[in-house]
Amino acid sequence: MYIEKMFIGRLSSFQRPVYSSLRQSSALRRTLATLAVLESGSPSYQVLSAAAKIGGPITVLLAGSKATETATTVSKISGVSKVLTASNPAYDHGLAENFAPLIVENVKAAGFTHVFAPASAFGKSILPRVSALLDVQQISDITDVQSEDTFVRPIYAGNVILTVKSNDPIKLITVRSSAFPEPANTSSEAAIENAVDPNVESTTTFVSETLTKSERPDLASAKVVVSGGRGLKDKENFDKIIYPLADALGAGVGASRAAVDSGFADNSLQVGQTGKVVAPDFYLAVGISGAIQHLAGMKDSKVIAAINKDPDAPIFEIADVGLVADLFNVVPELTEKLKK
Ligand SMILES: Cc1cc2nc3c(=O)[nH]c(=O)nc-3n(C[C@H](O)[C@H](O)[C@H](O)COP(=O)(O)OP(=O)(O)OC[C@H]3O[C@@H](n4cnc5c(N)ncnc54)[C@H](O)[C@@H]3O)c2cc1C
Repeated sequence: MYIEKMFIGRLSSFQRPVYSSLRQSSALRRTLATLAVLESGSPSYQVLSAAAKIGGPITVLLAGSKATETATTVSKISGVSKVLTASNPAYDHGLAENFAPLIVENVKAAGFTHVFAPASAFGKSILPRVSALLDVQQISDITDVQSEDTFVRPIYAGNVILTVKSNDPIKLITVRSSAFPEPANTSSEAAIENAVDPNVESTTTFVSETLTKSERPDLASAKVVVSGGRGLKDKENFDKIIYPLADALGAGVGASRAAVDSGFADNSLQVGQTGKVVAPDFYLAVGISGAIQHLAGMKDSKVIAAINKDPDAPIFEIADVGLVADLFNVVPELTEKLKK
């Protein structure tokens, strides 16, 4: 693999997906075959929009107890030519030790040239093992596909954009879902078949998980996100000011790392380089300065608004709309007006 080009600048200005047809010879097209590995419980369908840009047929692999249930929905998505299911509880919870051999066996059985998975905890956990087992280099967190061997991905918290060309025989890709649109449905249905299931004996078993339950839209998929920062001063203010504003907007709640580290908000709400990457239609930053590590998680939002009392706060450099004001005065008033 080698780095072909570098761009430096705001990601969104040139990262919006462009659906021009890729320049491939028809001979090459015939040999391309993509395996898209999706989570059965909460599939990230945007992975299929990224895979469609390769140009070859797309086979989706679903595994676990919910595989068959999800397969019917997936079979109706545009561009999907086949769905492989492994209805085996060993694949629930995306345990990498179980899942990686399943992917490898199916790649070998059908000769896939590309493997796509979401750059979520699921894909980030499983694909490096697949990479080691197949002895090829993974290309992580792509935001665009330029051709069947050339991909675009951000590094340094999104401040540098790489165009990466891979010479590996099998391209292993994780996809930043927020950079690609939801695929459309079609009237036809792709065939659903059984995957090759290696049933590997695993030393790893799932014990339990603790999930934070919320009535609010999920931060990662919310169309509107309201995030609070250190400017809120404490957890009481965060709860009293950010949540009512989010509820008035039907928004998911996010937080800066400073807010999370100070105990104002749960770790699962952190937006940024070491938190979640979101790209909602509207992102409102309240009492957040706009450090590059925070921007890395939200700068692809379609409209960015910020409320900050410091007119020189860096967040205003990327905000489409800014309000220089004391949040303790303006946010409760804004919330009341929105409720009306
Ligand atoms: C390796 C690494 C990874 C990191 N990852 C992340 C990450 O994922 N996400 C992240 O967010 N950060 C991350 N950070 C931390 C980041 O560098 C910043 O420290 C953090 O984002 C600052 O959070 P903040 O904007 O809430 O706080 P501050 O920078 O302290 O800003 C608070 C803002 O509130 C404003 N304010 C204060 N009072 C009021 C008021 N009454 N009304 C209106 N405005 C007010 C201030 O003017 C200020 O701009 C990371 C840092 C490192 C080194």
